[in-house]
Amino acid sequence: MDDYPALAMHVDGEWLGTEGRRTHSVVNPATGQVLAELPLADAADLDRALDAAARGFTTWRHTPAEDRARVLKTAAALLRERAEHVATVATTEQGKTIHETRIEVHMAAGALEWAGEEARRLYGRVLVRPTGMRSIVVKEPVGPVAAFAPWNFPIGNPGRKLSAALGAGCSVVLKPPEEAPASALEVLRALLDAGLPPGVAQVVFGVPDEVSRHLLASPVIRKMSFTGSTAVGKHLMKLCADGMKRTTLELGGHAPVVVFDDVDVDKVLDAVVPAKFRNAGQVCVSPTRFYVQRGIYDEFVEGFTRRAAQLPVGNGLDEANRMGPMANPRRVEAMGRFIEDAESHGAKRTTGGDRLAADGFFWEPTVLADVPLSARVMNEEPFGPLALMAPFDTFDDAVQNANRLPYALAAYAYTDSAKRAMLIGDALEAGMVGINTERLGAADAPFGGVKESGHGAEDGPEGVEACLVTKAIHQS
Ligand code: NAD
Repeated sequence: MDDYPALAMHVDGEWLGTEGRRTHSVVNPATGQVLAELPLADAADLDRALDAAARGFTTWRHTPAEDRARVLKTAAALLRERAEHVATVATTEQGKTIHETRIEVHMAAGALEWAGEEARRLYGRVLVRPTGMRSIVVKEPVGPVAAFAPWNFPIGNPGRKLSAALGAGCSVVLKPPEEAPASALEVLRALLDAGLPPGVAQVVFGVPDEVSRHLLASPVIRKMSFTGSTAVGKHLMKLCADGMKRTTLELGGHAPVVVFDDVDVDKVLDAVVPAKFRNAGQVCVSPTRFYVQRGIYDEFVEGFTRRAAQLPVGNGLDEANRMGPMANPRRVEAMGRFIEDAESHGAKRTTGGDRLAADGFFWEPTVLADVPLSARVMNEEPFGPLALMAPFDTFDDAVQNANRLPYALAAYAYTDSAKRAMLIGDALEAGMVGINTERLGAADAPFGGVKESGHGAEDGPEGVEACLVTKAIHQS
């Protein structure tokens, strides 16, 4: 990409560049080539961001809801106008295909628009007492939010975090991923061009642990929102405990897919194979453990394998490709380790399993059949293009296997029986369940997990609600 944007932080209405700061090299994962240098915040930058967020909160919480709504909805329209540019930036720095990043622009725009509309519906309630006394329950923005967005949805996730906080009337210090920073800056630019006042949204980059420790130690920050691994989520929640800060944590997943033997196998495969290899499997709700009823197991594995082997893999900017590289070399190394371990436990590789001979961080779409529960990959989130297959016999066996892990973000089931659909929807432990669909996200529906996949939800009324506190005013 010739016009990959210059990278800077944004604090108190000012752009802060690389001069005099440590830097991080942003790499194109499809080629391994350096795209640009990213400035990293030092302690003084972070203090400045905190001061600005404190002042920005005063400005924004007192901005009429109609005006907040206008900014968010105008930003959504600007993002849509700029969709092709923003999608190209995201594919260049993160790797996923241009088809996916185009959708992601609309995901961010949808979140901004929804939160803008929701900003006008932050109702309280009045309780009228017989004595003439009244109790008034009001919703107030929680305060400045520290938000940490990961590299796998570099447009959509910052869009989600900014929209909820700004819709509720909070200011924000956002740390997008250092690996894919320009996408989040495009979302910020749309908000600034739409009239967001200075100091309301700061964007900083840095050494993640330094930034989170610094921001979360400050009394200015009243809420933290994080998307990433369970291990880091637990660490950040502990940091928040000291200041009793509210948390929204969207952490890892290991989604089971229960496929009953009454389905049209080809139809299910047409849906789940592209879903598995979306973003090279680096998706928290990626369908991962395929539990397939024994009568159709062989047919399902064979059909999955054939489709996976035919998937066009390559640079995501090429319209013909359906899977891009992995976002970073860490994921490539992790794939090799997971597959070796699974094979040593008896899993059968039916396709893939190797790095692709290319300059970037490409890994073949891989299918492992008959994967035993003892394999590491059946217990740890692979976060890559690995589909794991195992047969089951009864409904209860499927549910037991599906629910056996501490992860409980997404779960899926495919059946043609209305009764089974209802029973499995109730039985699966997850924050989100897809029955005969692999589509779980929508601007108006909550997105989040339970158990060790985190707590709280983003999107929908729940996302905005998570940035509000209630106050009861009793008046006689
Ligand atoms: P990681 O655990 O090092 O980092 C995960 C994310 O957390 C990254 O965006 C990183 O910048 C951020 N992070 C790490 N330490 C942090 C800290 N102390 N303070 C603030 N932010 C911090 O792992 P990784 O190699 O980048 O990603 C691999 C794993 O992360 C995957 O196995 C997956 O479980 C998880 N992940 C999940 C999601 C999701 O959508 N839930 C997204 C990205 C990564």
